[in-house]
Amino acid sequence: MSGCIFCKIASKVVNADIVYENQHLVVFKDLKPAAPVHLLLIPKKHYSSLQDLEEEDFAIAGRINAAAVRVARDMGFAENGFRLVCNCGWDGGQVVNHLHYHLLAGRELQWPPG
Ligand code: 5GP
Ligand code: ZN
Repeated sequence: MSGCIFCKIASKVVNADIVYENQHLVVFKDLKPAAPVHLLLIPKKHYSSLQDLEEEDFAIAGRINAAAVRVARDMGFAENGFRLVCNCGWDGGQVVNHLHYHLLAGRELQWPPG
C-alpha cells in the first residue's frame, strides 16, 4: 500500500534493523524501544489492523505467533519470558495502520499497562 511506512520496510524501500524474515512476515527493531528488547512483527501483505482481517486471513496471526517464539528462542529471552501485543484501533493505541505485533522483553514488564 503506497504511503504505508511498514509496507516500505517490508519491501526494503525504507531501512529497518531486521532480525528475522520469511516469505510471510518481517521482524525488526522498533525505532523507539519501550523495553530492552522491542521488536515489531508485520505481515508482508498490507492489512490495516487486526479487526480488518477476514476469516480466511487469520493464518497470518498464527504465523506471527510462531515467529515471535522462534525469535525469542533464537535471541535467548524465551525462558525469561516476553510480551506479544497487538494494539488495535484508536482505543488500543494503534498509530501505524499496518497490522503489527509488538514483542517486548528484557525486563519485568508492568501489568496492567497504562
Ligand atoms: P503502534 O502504536 O501503532 O502499535 O506502534 C507503532 C510502533 O512503530 C511504535 O512503537 C513506533 O516506535 C514504531 N515505528 C513507527 N515508525 C517506525 C519506523 O519507521 N521504523 C521502525 N523501526 N519503527 C517504527
Ligand atoms: Zn502497509
